[in-house]
Amino acid sequence: MRFLEDLNSRQREAVTATEGRVRVIAGAGTGKTKALTYRYAYLVNVLGIDPANILCLTFTNKAAAEMRSRIALMVHSGDYNDFVCTLHGFCVKFLRKEIYRLGFPKSFTILDEDDAKTLAKECMDELGIKRTEKTVRKFLDGIAAEKALNGYIEAYMLPESRISEEMRRTGNLVCYASRQMKGWALDFDDLMNFTLFILDRFPDAREHWQEQLNYIMVDEAQDCNTDDWNLIEKLGARHHNIFVVGDPDQCIYEWRGAKPARFVQFASDKDIVLDENYRSTPKILDIANCVIANNKNRIPKDLFTRRSEGPAVIHFHGRTEKEETDWIVARIRTLLDAGASLQDIAVLYRSAWQSRAIEQALLSEQLSYVIWGGIRFFERREIKDTLGYLRLLANPDDDMAFLRVINTPSRKLGRAFLDRLKEDAARDGRSLYPTLLAHAGEYGKPAAEGFVQLIEKGREAVGKVSVSDLMNRMLEDSGLKRAIREDQDEDRLENIDELLRSVRFYEEAHAEEEPTLSDWLQDIALYTNADYRKETRVIKLMTIHQAKGLEFPYVFIIGLSEGTFPNMRTIREYKKNGEEEERRLMYVAVTRAEKALFLTESEGFNVSTKMSKYPSRFLAEIKKNMVVVEGTIPEELWRGTRNLVHVLDEENYVPDVLGAAMAARTAADGFSDERAAYNSPFRIGATVCHAVFGEGTVLSASSDYSTFQVRFADGSTRHLRASFLSLPDLPE
Ligand code: ATP
Ligand code: MG
Repeated sequence: MRFLEDLNSRQREAVTATEGRVRVIAGAGTGKTKALTYRYAYLVNVLGIDPANILCLTFTNKAAAEMRSRIALMVHSGDYNDFVCTLHGFCVKFLRKEIYRLGFPKSFTILDEDDAKTLAKECMDELGIKRTEKTVRKFLDGIAAEKALNGYIEAYMLPESRISEEMRRTGNLVCYASRQMKGWALDFDDLMNFTLFILDRFPDAREHWQEQLNYIMVDEAQDCNTDDWNLIEKLGARHHNIFVVGDPDQCIYEWRGAKPARFVQFASDKDIVLDENYRSTPKILDIANCVIANNKNRIPKDLFTRRSEGPAVIHFHGRTEKEETDWIVARIRTLLDAGASLQDIAVLYRSAWQSRAIEQALLSEQLSYVIWGGIRFFERREIKDTLGYLRLLANPDDDMAFLRVINTPSRKLGRAFLDRLKEDAARDGRSLYPTLLAHAGEYGKPAAEGFVQLIEKGREAVGKVSVSDLMNRMLEDSGLKRAIREDQDEDRLENIDELLRSVRFYEEAHAEEEPTLSDWLQDIALYTNADYRKETRVIKLMTIHQAKGLEFPYVFIIGLSEGTFPNMRTIREYKKNGEEEERRLMYVAVTRAEKALFLTESEGFNVSTKMSKYPSRFLAEIKKNMVVVEGTIPEELWRGTRNLVHVLDEENYVPDVLGAAMAARTAADGFSDERAAYNSPFRIGATVCHAVFGEGTVLSASSDYSTFQVRFADGSTRHLRASFLSLPDLPE
């Protein structure tokens, strides 16, 4: 019982209230997960419950691993089994035992995202759905929506399901499901749906599991969706020992169907509230409390801590992204010099594409890092594909690059074709591409000839146009970008945009040397070839979603610009709810930090959001005396932030209003028009200001949005460059 002394009295209450329906509802870092793991140890060590009778659930694999290792410290090894897992992890274990009831083998396979897409494409081909007509992503969304309705398992996915050829030819789901059946393959939705189906359909299975699982515990319960709740309630329906812990302020998966209301309305026998935070310094907590207080849709609560003050939270503003990453690296050096270890440091960001800049900075400084739950930027598929094209242009003998891109996007040049090409190359003593160039007409493959034309056209442009233009052309002409667009894979599109943007930065920085394609490729080889050992002492980089439930002594939250964080797409789609969910994400990010917190952002142009960068509204919400600002933030930047938020509040959010002015300016600075055209105009009808002519109303915009026709108060109209116009000041 000694170990209970580590807990405060309310946590102890949570640990020892083992019977009935118990809920712990509390803010970040108050020891919810700690209480849950101690409860597990209490059940096993003190009450003598067999771990096989305890189900302990959480959301991410990382969090489950963390939970297992915490439990392992308290419970004899071998005494805890693998029922400490994620919800989907449990479904897999369940199905391995039970799926025979549906005629599936125990060794059924699980489709990951890529597998599911491949399957979807096969179906679309079979059904004669053009990929342009309906994207692969939409097709899969449709499948998921159909699967959310009851009945599909019985109708299509059991050996006794009767599926006629006619049905297969007409229904998307029928086609998809019967292809799945061929390989006994389940996708992620099926794992949950099959589990629920078996529990419903087979009373003996249901009774067996209900009997076995004496205790059910769920961490991060605010993120459970309807199916998750149904599963939990069903499994707990016999013993009624359900222990749920969560924090509604940390619900960050509503976009995926999380139902925090189910947690708030959970019919509990006992509620325990924790309010002392043990993780963070008061300065960090102040920021968390201050930001989350701006959410209207929440139950107000404040956290307190008895920890010592600690260093001030720093907001760094860089004039360029390079300044931002340089500052971060310098800070990391200072921390290391002061005795911190690499693994104490975490860099968090909103979206995966944001890792590129910081990765390059860390690689240059030879600071080891790992991306948790993700892939290094230069190893991402779309980045390697894009670089493959450019490498082939720079060096036609690069066989690796050739093999990477010849069928990306698919040109249906199969193995037989490649084998023959390789033979010819060996015979001629040439590399692959030169062989193809010499013999293209002989293979009877128009696609191969098309490929040669594509590469030759690109090679002609080498040296004549900038690297970024070349990259842009190859992305378009090769069809690579179109293929990704058709997949509606926003993450991959964002990565490509980010690569393109980084080339533009490189060109700007090396403008005097007029860098060639080879120069650039050599320069980034440092990043693309960086060999790294699997080390444990490394800096951790991850998206905020991945960081949920975890804690780190030193935390950097980077790229805090409007549009990036809060994410513009989320706000556009979900309006106020979207903004609140983004703010909860900010709350999660801030509350990961134990000893020190650094918030960073910079000026510039953001290709991904297609607008110029202004400090995030979340930074604006922090009281001035709560952070120390490093770097000077021009007042007009804060005005930009306020304008954006104001426009959003009016419910006619045109996010690029301010971007247009900046884009026009950058266009004038020598960027291509294409980039300016990315931008939306000032709204037609919007009120704008001119230094000389005063206020006016926008009547129309030129096709590249660089010039606007404005009518002024005296009735006169003029065509004016965007950079000479601004939005009127708003009241503070
Ligand atoms: P989150 O909401 O981020 O998931 P949480 O509520 O689950 O946070 P924990 O991760 O369990 O919080 O605990 C946060 C930190 O506080 C951990 O380092 C934990 O060891 C410590 N802690 C929790 N309770 C106590 C306590 N009673 N005494 C000392 N330290 C504690
Ligand atoms: Mg936790």
